Amino acid sequence: MAQISIDALSTVYPNGVRAVDGLDLTIADGEFFALLGPSGCGKTTLLRTIAGLEQATSGAVSIGDREVTNVEPGRRNVAMVFQDYALFPHMTVSENIAYPLRVRKQPKAKQHEVAERTANSLSLGHLLERRPGQLSGGQQQRVALARAVAIDADVLLLDEPLSNLDARLRLEARTFLKRLQRELGVTTVFVTHDQAEALALADRIAVMESGGIRQLGSPREVFRRPANTFVANFIGSTPMNLVDGVVDGGQLAVAGAKMPSPQALPDGTKVTVGVRPEYLSLTTDGIGITGTVSIVENLGVSSLVTLECPDGTLIGVTVREQDEPAIGSRATAVPESGRLLLYSKEDGTLLG
Ligand code: ADP
Ligand code: MG
Repeated sequence: MAQISIDALSTVYPNGVRAVDGLDLTIADGEFFALLGPSGCGKTTLLRTIAGLEQATSGAVSIGDREVTNVEPGRRNVAMVFQDYALFPHMTVSENIAYPLRVRKQPKAKQHEVAERTANSLSLGHLLERRPGQLSGGQQQRVALARAVAIDADVLLLDEPLSNLDARLRLEARTFLKRLQRELGVTTVFVTHDQAEALALADRIAVMESGGIRQLGSPREVFRRPANTFVANFIGSTPMNLVDGVVDGGQLAVAGAKMPSPQALPDGTKVTVGVRPEYLSLTTDGIGITGTVSIVENLGVSSLVTLECPDGTLIGVTVREQDEPAIGSRATAVPESGRLLLYSKEDGTLLG
């Protein structure tokens, strides 16, 4: 086990793309860490640079006490699972799992023993003699994981390991992965573009954009207090309301309403007001944003209500199924105390 330290790391491809751009990050020993961000933000490149499959252009990577920036991949003691699993089609499950041991010239008996034990722990014991082509997606994914954990690496690197699974299997595999990681206690870096997956699995999340980290924190922190409008937009199954507001005599004018400003700012300061639909509730009175119910979307136990305000602003509010308002009725969305966030109109950073 080991901590990972990344220092002013840049990885620039020969075509000039700065896929990782001066990034600093420390991942704790035993941590389940998620790299989250949209496609193309540099997640895979960062993971591959940690593994040594891409050469850092500048900066440093350390694993444990050892700087590995120029150490070849095979000598970093990391295991990686690729998005497409990269199993050997002509080898059996057992041979696939034991492959890293074979490469390390471990005795045959040891290879068998480890393959069997790892396969059993991942519910693959009955499939040892099959080939990857004879397995379901979920089983292939577990073989890829088994191969990665078979070598007791210091660090486990997972690149979107669940993205090839269908929705239901993905949930199962998620629970499975979380349990496995807890049992092994191995420092794990998990790449995903799926915010729900990152929130569910990770101890901490780095939200990435354009080769850099836009916020680093626990799932709760990034959900409750996104550090900027990029993260606010990216995190959450229902999008956060981000609407124009202006400070006026200690009050906040937003969507034709006035409410106490969560922060003391000079009069006339223009802000982006952020509030999650889950932190708003609907009343017929109270101090909040009033509008007409224009859309009601069923989310299962809850519903997402869209209020259309007189100035055209749309506000999403999550309500319990039984509290669904009628289309066309007037309602007021009242924020839970402390849940209104103000963002700079200039650069989108959280104020205060
Ligand atoms: P992600 O995994 O977040 O989708 P990547 O790390 O794959 O992002 O890519 C980051 C950026 O680097 C993208 O702009 C991508 O087009 C570019 N890129 C990725 N791989 C290469 C490569 N081998 N050569 C040149 N550019 C690349
Ligand atoms: Mg990728």
